[in-house]
Amino acid sequence: MARMSSTRHKWGDKVRFPLKTEQQCVRCDMVKVGRRQGGPAGYWDEFWRDEERIHCTATPPCDARCEAAAA
Ligand SMILES: [Zn+2]
Repeated sequence: MARMSSTRHKWGDKVRFPLKTEQQCVRCDMVKVGRRQGGPAGYWDEFWRDEERIHCTATPPCDARCEAAAA
């Protein structure tokens, strides 16, 4: 709990699909989805957790809930 504010996501291996990539955080189960739609500006990141999109302007913080559950 003491380290919570400084916890960073620990992204797993990148999984590649034709128009997107996915990386899951091993600490909190959040999934970062990198989407492509052609063109230099056609790229953006989305963040998902529990199959719901997290609407945000920056990377949501990592709550490390997997590590908390394992402790
Ligand atoms: Zn995380």
